[in-house]
Amino acid sequence: MKEFEIAKKIGKELTEGELREAAAKALGVRPEKVGHVEVVRRSVDARTDILYRYRVQAFREGEPYEPFKLQEFRDVHGAKPVIIIGAGPAGLFAAVKLLQLGLKPVILERGKDVHRRKADMARLSVEGVIDPDSNYCYGEGGAGAFSDGKLFTRSSKRGDIREVLHGLVAFGADPDILVDAHPHLGTDRLPAIVENIRLCVEEHGGEYHFDSRVTDIRQADGGFEVLAGGEVYRAAKVILASGHSARDIYELFQSRGWALQAKGFAMGVRVEHPQWLINQIRYHGKYQPFMPTAEYSFVQQVDGRGVFSFCMCPGGILVPSSTEDGAVVLNGMSNSARNSKWANAGVVVQIEPEDVPGDGPFHLMDFQQAVERKMFEWVSANGGRHPLQAPAQRMKDFCRGIVSRDLPKTSYHPGALSSPLHELLPEHVALRLRRAFPQVDRQMHGYYTNDALLLGVESRTSSPIRLPRDPETLEHIDVPGLYPCGEGAGYAGGIVSSALDGINCAVQCAQTI
Ligand SMILES: Cc1cc2nc3c(=O)[nH]c(=O)nc-3n(C[C@H](O)[C@H](O)[C@H](O)COP(=O)(O)OP(=O)(O)OC[C@H]3O[C@@H](n4cnc5c(N)ncnc54)[C@H](O)[C@@H]3O)c2cc1C
Repeated sequence: MKEFEIAKKIGKELTEGELREAAAKALGVRPEKVGHVEVVRRSVDARTDILYRYRVQAFREGEPYEPFKLQEFRDVHGAKPVIIIGAGPAGLFAAVKLLQLGLKPVILERGKDVHRRKADMARLSVEGVIDPDSNYCYGEGGAGAFSDGKLFTRSSKRGDIREVLHGLVAFGADPDILVDAHPHLGTDRLPAIVENIRLCVEEHGGEYHFDSRVTDIRQADGGFEVLAGGEVYRAAKVILASGHSARDIYELFQSRGWALQAKGFAMGVRVEHPQWLINQIRYHGKYQPFMPTAEYSFVQQVDGRGVFSFCMCPGGILVPSSTEDGAVVLNGMSNSARNSKWANAGVVVQIEPEDVPGDGPFHLMDFQQAVERKMFEWVSANGGRHPLQAPAQRMKDFCRGIVSRDLPKTSYHPGALSSPLHELLPEHVALRLRRAFPQVDRQMHGYYTNDALLLGVESRTSSPIRLPRDPETLEHIDVPGLYPCGEGAGYAGGIVSSALDGINCAVQCAQTI
């Protein structure tokens, strides 16, 4: 097998003939002696001409080629049950893996199925009423269901990413995600994928229980009794995949005396630029409508802490992603076409436990909540016309410490209110952001502009609490048989790494049940 690269201008199709010819050249054989040829990666190169770079694997005729194969699903009616708390990416991929391993997943989810959930989110944006069990973070599909659905992860140590990507394709995702360097699904495609996972799990004998918020987990008879929605569920093992916002679950751990620790996270703002501007910057003025909507990412060090872009949504919109009333939290999402007029990204500052006064496992979560509430209270006290309106400031005004006289249009449906965000954010966050934005302009000329709007607060970047677990067995250090899993456990961040963690927990579970 030979791996090689081939480049083609974006907008011009790479034909089968060109691929085989390039493969023959790379292998040093005649075209008819070329066997299997496969594009394994496609990335955009905008350094000079705007190109797609394809990484290709070529096999000689007769040379063995093994395609990646997912394990078969088994019928698990009557098999041993494993309780999964939470139907986000971690819980869903744990469920799929359990099916493959012959165990019966019993999913307990506080929210609704992905379709009923949509209506609650529409109400949330229009009326500002947050259902504590059904919102942008809670419900079938978890925080990943109504998102940009970006699928890249920096961590390949957690497992084979192909298992997640091929799994998603099996459940209806576009096969392009298998080769794109920065794959994404889009919020318009995610609900159908999430539903197909459910249909598969149920068809093979697994169970879903919606409107089933877990309120207690008890150790009993060498296994567990889990109380949810007024019912008691029993199993020898529990995979806990309740996400980074489930304060009630952390409080349950505290009350049981099970270990939990404060964990560093990141906080900042959502930044919204006109997408045309980001396209011009990233494509050096050569953007054409048939090109992929431009993305960006950056990392800076300011005063000993990382300041970085997070979860960038090209052609996306801003959404209210708080899980409780009285708090303003923003996040971003986009549809598969990424065709809105805006580009948004979190720009956040790394926060370590020692950066915030206080101690104990909840001290960073309390800090996070206090800032989210401060945003809400400021808007309510200053004539906000929607409960979830966000305090906002133009970028240069923020850096200069001036309240903006007016604001540019925003995609954020509840609206923005001109505010002294530079004062509302914690000082150590605001000061670093104010220094970072002009620095980013050196890499992306035009980024530092008053046409960019900053909205607060972006605070749910990862869990501010960790549920410590054994590095080998992945069980909680105080509770054998309980597997803290995904983002809420503090061991993953993002859709793919959470899904991989779900797979890993399911595998560990199956080894000792
Ligand atoms: C708007 C938005 C956009 C995002 N965009 C991206 C993106 O493009 N790419 C990316 O990689 N990541 C993105 N993320 C982050 C990503 O969604 C999360 O990292 C990922 O979903 C974490 O997976 P998880 O399964 O660990 O937890 P979650 O997805 O948070 O799922 C946890 C589930 O547990 C349930 N639950 C909580 N408490 C209980 C309880 N007591 N009883 C029963 N059930 C409970 C919740 O309802 C939820 O369904 C985005 C997040 C948001 C909010």
